[in-house]
Amino acid sequence: MVADKGKESHQHDVLKSTQTVIHLALDKLGYPEEVFELLKEPLRMLTVKIPVRMDDGKVKVFTGYRAQHNDAVGPTKGGIRFHPNVTEKEVKALSIWMSLKCGIVDLPYGGGKGGIICDPRDMSFRELERLSRGYVRAISQIVGPAKDIPAPDVFTNSQIMAWMMDEYSRIDEYNSPGFITGKPLVLGGSHGRETATAKGVTICIREAAKKKGIDLKGARVVVQGFGNAGSFLAKFMHDAGAKIIGISDAYGGLHDENGLDIDYLLDRRDSFGTVTKLFNDTISNEELLELDCDILVPAAIENQITEENAHNIRAGIVVEAANGPTTLEATKILTERGILLVPDVLASSGGVTVSYFEWVQNNQGYYWTEEEVEEKLEKILVNSFQNVYDTAQTRRVDMRLAAYMVGVRKMAEACRFRGWI
Ligand code: GLU
Repeated sequence: MVADKGKESHQHDVLKSTQTVIHLALDKLGYPEEVFELLKEPLRMLTVKIPVRMDDGKVKVFTGYRAQHNDAVGPTKGGIRFHPNVTEKEVKALSIWMSLKCGIVDLPYGGGKGGIICDPRDMSFRELERLSRGYVRAISQIVGPAKDIPAPDVFTNSQIMAWMMDEYSRIDEYNSPGFITGKPLVLGGSHGRETATAKGVTICIREAAKKKGIDLKGARVVVQGFGNAGSFLAKFMHDAGAKIIGISDAYGGLHDENGLDIDYLLDRRDSFGTVTKLFNDTISNEELLELDCDILVPAAIENQITEENAHNIRAGIVVEAANGPTTLEATKILTERGILLVPDVLASSGGVTVSYFEWVQNNQGYYWTEEEVEEKLEKILVNSFQNVYDTAQTRRVDMRLAAYMVGVRKMAEACRFRGWI
């Protein structure tokens, strides 16, 4: 996680900029205006109030959201974020990105997303459990294994998924592992789910590096954010022979031209991905992004590469492991500068892909090995990368617009066949 750079104004931008690119993508594909009217906002947006008895005996009322962008293709799917900066607009944008991810990797889902305004870093284990269960009770009418399937996102994890699954199963009066993904293995989780986002990003980096003629052995890599995606990614790149010269968390960054000791840092990070507090000699997140490197991976939060710093990025490839880390203005600048940008909706789609595998395994009650999961993920991500890359080349558009064109097409077609538009 990275220092928060502002609330509503930035998040307003993420919804607006997503809508701008969806509009462009639909135009390029030749769809009429009403398709954009339908897809520019979620079909449904539920706002809930969740009263939670805190450990001091007082009741605190939290605000939560669940957005369902589009369910023409199938049930909606997407994570739940626990963060103080969650807003309605951010959740809406995140649900649209989920639709695009599902379209790009061709899953039978539309996009959904949830969020609760809270700071889990200041809450006890039991308070978090009560909040998680309260949220499920509040949204129970609109979710379910064939309606809308949640998963982890920023500051939520397999324990939280387990409480939520248990609460839903009680309400439903059935054991319902397919209600939510990212569960612990013993409760119907899938092998490979925890590392899936990072695995997907690693595959995208490898494919992008091939296109750019960059050898991963010895490549200098900078990773912003040391949460689920960033930390595992740093490990996988390190294992592939790359040199991780910079990492960061919400409080600052670490830089070493000779390569950081990733195993040590992984060992010392806390469950919120914080590790730099243990060091004196830190750099800022802004400085980290501008380090001279081959591969830069923003793996934290939105709006980190903007028109203010895009000219100073010194990487050959930027791969977005976070949702929305680069603004549209910055996308244009990076593309013009010949930097290959692999957009979030492609690069971070490994998580939802293995979530889909988890849901399939829950539905069939038969479970796959780690190798089976990895093999399936590899195939899907390699094909999806190539598909978006080819679209960018043949339609002469940047990778973000190409990814949106690929991602929106199936959803638009499903809406058409259903007779909605
Ligand atoms: N929260 C993750 C994402 O943004 C995963 C969603 C899922 O697994 O459904 O892609």
